[in-house]
Amino acid sequence: MILAVSSLKPPHPRYRGRFAPSPTGPLHAGSLASALGSWLDARANQGTWLVRIEDLDVPRCITGMDQHILAQLQACGLIWDEEVIWQSNQLKAYQSALEMLYSDRQIYPCTCSRQQITSLLSAQGKLRARNQEQVYPGTCRNGHVWQARLPSSSALAWRLALKPDQEIHFADAEFGPQKQDLNGDVGDFVLRRADGIVAYQLAVVVDDAQQGITHIVRGADLLSNTARQIYLQSVLGYPTPQYRHLPLVLDPHGEKLSKQTQATQINTANNAAVLEALQAAALHLGLSEMGDGQDQTIAEWLLRATHAWTDRTKQLGRTQN
Ligand code: GLU
Ligand code: ZN
Repeated sequence: MILAVSSLKPPHPRYRGRFAPSPTGPLHAGSLASALGSWLDARANQGTWLVRIEDLDVPRCITGMDQHILAQLQACGLIWDEEVIWQSNQLKAYQSALEMLYSDRQIYPCTCSRQQITSLLSAQGKLRARNQEQVYPGTCRNGHVWQARLPSSSALAWRLALKPDQEIHFADAEFGPQKQDLNGDVGDFVLRRADGIVAYQLAVVVDDAQQGITHIVRGADLLSNTARQIYLQSVLGYPTPQYRHLPLVLDPHGEKLSKQTQATQINTANNAAVLEALQAAALHLGLSEMGDGQDQTIAEWLLRATHAWTDRTKQLGRTQN
């Protein structure tokens, strides 16, 4: 009988996607486009779509914003398929990952101040422009006296000791082949900050693995983090999902949204307003065939958008091959 039951499983969508907002502000045109893109990609693939609240960076989080974002998603008909998880409830999982890396001597504590890093890089002629991330020069890599277990002292940053020659290659479903030389472009990056907060790079990788995420669809602003995450997946023994980074939000005239426009929260006051917000998000995603979105329910609109997304993906595939 057990056999019969397992063969009756619903057509199992192996696809598991997610949207992972930080509760630092309400959904705006840009974040709605990311949410919609990942929802559509999951639906178009008969997949499962999850929502995870990335609330680790406490100083930047706004109280109640998690519930607000969830209500905004619901108003837009973007309903998640499993329970929402909060990163603040996942601290044990991050700690075990750090302990594993420590026992493998793959992380080390760093006492450098920003100022010290900057002056050393500048003395070495390696200082980058101010708006660019600096490549950590590895100052603290060799000074650590290894202990049996990860020391609990929290006032230190912990960095990942990159293995040599880590040029990471991956194919982004939207942007095509990508590569990054982690040692040359990033350096030993922080997995736990000196203020005790687990870094985004570690948390995202642990959670994506724990939630069995197979497809990550998110904004192109995160493309430059992907090689780090793929590297972390490999050292932690996790599978690497497929990545699709959505182009930055453009306005209907094909121009980048100004900070002002982008930061304005979407209007979900009534059906018409929601449809308008979805329609704008669809345009940002390049779903130009959606019509004007009038006189429809949100569910009908989303169904049409799912078909349009499938067409878009096919078209993109054709231009990439
Ligand atoms: N929480 C991140 C953000 O809001 C997104 C993380 C991700 O999708 O990997 O920018
Ligand atoms: Zn250091």
